[in-house]
Amino acid sequence: MNTQIVLPANAIAGKAGLSNKADFKESVHNWAQTLSAKPFQIRVQQMKRKWASCSSRGTLTFNEDLLAQNGSFQEYVIVHELLHLRVPNHGKLFRSLMALYLPDGEPIEGANPDKQNPYSPYSPNHE
Ligand SMILES: [Zn+2]
Repeated sequence: MNTQIVLPANAIAGKAGLSNKADFKESVHNWAQTLSAKPFQIRVQQMKRKWASCSSRGTLTFNEDLLAQNGSFQEYVIVHELLHLRVPNHGKLFRSLMALYLPDGEPIEGANPDKQNPYSPYSPNHE
């Protein structure tokens, strides 16, 4: 299967991270279009125990500490949360879509090498 994925013009994978809220939110909006996801609201704010969360009403909240992370990790968290608007769990379909849009996989290194880190998207504290 040779599926080409065209990344949005401002794709940030492999680049320095976006360090201000406005740029970060714009990237979320661009990814939302790419993924055909329709968030109700996008917030960037302090969060104690998670990188991000997705409410049942479609509000996505991102931890402002993400603004200090590298671009690959930011993009990973953005795509992960937006896909939850289409698939509410981490099942097979969710993992397939993640692999389709982010073929490089989970950028653990450089972001949170310790998988037990409570900030990991796959920790029990993740939504
Ligand atoms: Zn998740």
